[in-house]
Amino acid sequence: MALAKALEDLIRLFERFPGIGEKSARRMVLFLLQQPKSFSESLAECIAKCNSLLHPCSRCGNITDEDPCSICCDPFRDKSTICIVESVEDLITIEQAGIYNGLYFVLGSLYSPLDDEEIAPQVLERLVKRVSEEEVKEVILAFSPKVEGELTMNLISKIMEPLPVTVSRLSYGLPVGGSVSFADRTTLHAALEARTYIKRGEGRQ
Ligand SMILES: [Zn+2]
Repeated sequence: MALAKALEDLIRLFERFPGIGEKSARRMVLFLLQQPKSFSESLAECIAKCNSLLHPCSRCGNITDEDPCSICCDPFRDKSTICIVESVEDLITIEQAGIYNGLYFVLGSLYSPLDDEEIAPQVLERLVKRVSEEEVKEVILAFSPKVEGELTMNLISKIMEPLPVTVSRLSYGLPVGGSVSFADRTTLHAALEARTYIKRGEGRQ
C-alpha cells in the first residue's frame, strides 16, 4: 500500500534521528497525527525558535542562546581546567552528573581517518589559542573509549605537547566501545577521579 506522499515525507525525516528505524519513525509520525493540531503547531514553533535562537558558544562550542554560554560566564567555575569532549551531548551528560566544575571545549567530531573524518583545523586552532591565552593548567580528554577516541586523544596530546599544560584522560572505568553519553554518574565520576596523566604541565602547576 502506497502511503500518502506527505506522510511518507514526514516518516523519512523522522528516520534520520539517531537510533530510529522505519518502524519507530512511522509510530512517532502516527502518534503526532493523532494529537490535537496544537501539538504539532507547538512542536514546529519550538523547532523554529531553537533554529533562530540557538548557536554554538564561540568559546566552548556548547549550544547556547547567549554568547559566551552560561558555563563559560559562570564566575564560580574553575577556569584553569578544560574538559575536551566530542559532542554537546557528552558535555550535557558530564554536566548533569554534577561531577565537574571546570570549563569545556566541544570538538564536534572525533578523528577517524578510516571514515575520512577529520577534526576541522579551525576547531583545533581555536583550542590551541584558548589553552595558550587563558590561564589553563589542565586539559582533560573525555572521549568515549573506542578507536576514534584513542586516535583523537593521541592527536590532541601531540597538539598540546608544546603548551605548558597538564594533559589527562578519563580512566578506563568506562566500558571499552561504550560512550560518554551513556555512562552513569558513578562510572563517569570514577573515570574522572581516576584520570590518567598523559603529560604534566610545567609552569602552570
Ligand atoms: Zn561556552
